[in-house]
Amino acid sequence: MAGVYLSYPFCGQKCTYCNFASGVLPASLEPRYLAALRSEIERHEWRFTPDTVYLGGGTPSRIEPAALSHLFDAIPGRPWREVTLEAAPGGITATIARGWWEAGITRVSLGVQSFDTRELRQTARKHDAETVIREAGVLREAGLDNINVDLIAGLAFQTRESWNDSLDHVLRLGVPHVSVYILEIDEDSRLGLEVLTNGPRYGASHLPSEEQAAEHYEIAVERLASVGIHRYEISNFARTGFESAHNLKYWRLEPYAGFGSDSHAFDGAIRRQNSDDVARYVDLMERGESPCVEQTAASPRERLWVGLRLSEGVRIEAAEFEELGLRRFVDAGLVDYADGVARLTNRGVLLSNEVFQTLV
Ligand code: SF4
Repeated sequence: MAGVYLSYPFCGQKCTYCNFASGVLPASLEPRYLAALRSEIERHEWRFTPDTVYLGGGTPSRIEPAALSHLFDAIPGRPWREVTLEAAPGGITATIARGWWEAGITRVSLGVQSFDTRELRQTARKHDAETVIREAGVLREAGLDNINVDLIAGLAFQTRESWNDSLDHVLRLGVPHVSVYILEIDEDSRLGLEVLTNGPRYGASHLPSEEQAAEHYEIAVERLASVGIHRYEISNFARTGFESAHNLKYWRLEPYAGFGSDSHAFDGAIRRQNSDDVARYVDLMERGESPCVEQTAASPRERLWVGLRLSEGVRIEAAEFEELGLRRFVDAGLVDYADGVARLTNRGVLLSNEVFQTLV
């Protein structure tokens, strides 16, 4: 079965660590964007009936529930098996949560990142721990108990103690899914740029070392596993049965349609990407032109490097395994290879880029 991804790039603030094509955009663009999004869905020639829908961005929780329903009306296959909404904590009321549930949302992914006020302040996120706890309760009361919490290991001022405190909060919340990302430093985020130019802003001079961030990640792996939340992908952890059905499609190379600026799509052979310039996307749609700016054929090895992200590993014939030179990663303790299935070891997960570079 295939999936549908909808991108909504509008946010209430630009988080200092964020390197996505999203942010604070002119309010006047928003209604035009939603109209363009709906029209892109309407124009799509469906070759499959989707069973999952994922709203990411950006902050799609800013879309009014009625406008969400309007978008969903254009997508075939209702009721879908899973409909995820990425949401920013802060402002989730009982009315809004009920509206999401009525619109068909079945899963909410909360961009928490940390429960520590000092760490959060440096990210520009507006919430605090209390807000997250209260709003998780509001979601559950509305029937939305399939909740994911995003955390980032390696934020400014993060210590082993503050990280364990964030994990304590997650465990007390009892959510069935947690995503743990290690902070990425690159020039596409304000924080990354500050670090690369030795600037002091956004807590850039107070980042834990890479080793500390990796240690925090490993603490999360262990503590989440101790309560039955197992790692099923490098950054994703869930109780059995709560793995993200939509995101699994990316790693299993199943097809998905993508709509909106900077969205990606894959039909099983070709990858397509829409313009990441929001104004240009709207403009192209309003002129009746295609917003797609790039098309590439999937590489035959893609199946391997996306599949290796999964704890279940990826099937690969012995001859191909040897031909690709993957044996040296077994010797280095980064990959396990048994019964025709290759998997990253715990050490391999932390050094996965080395393995992926060989395959890419
Ligand atoms: S991290 Fe999320 S909420 Fe923050 S700017 Fe990026 S997309 Fe928006």
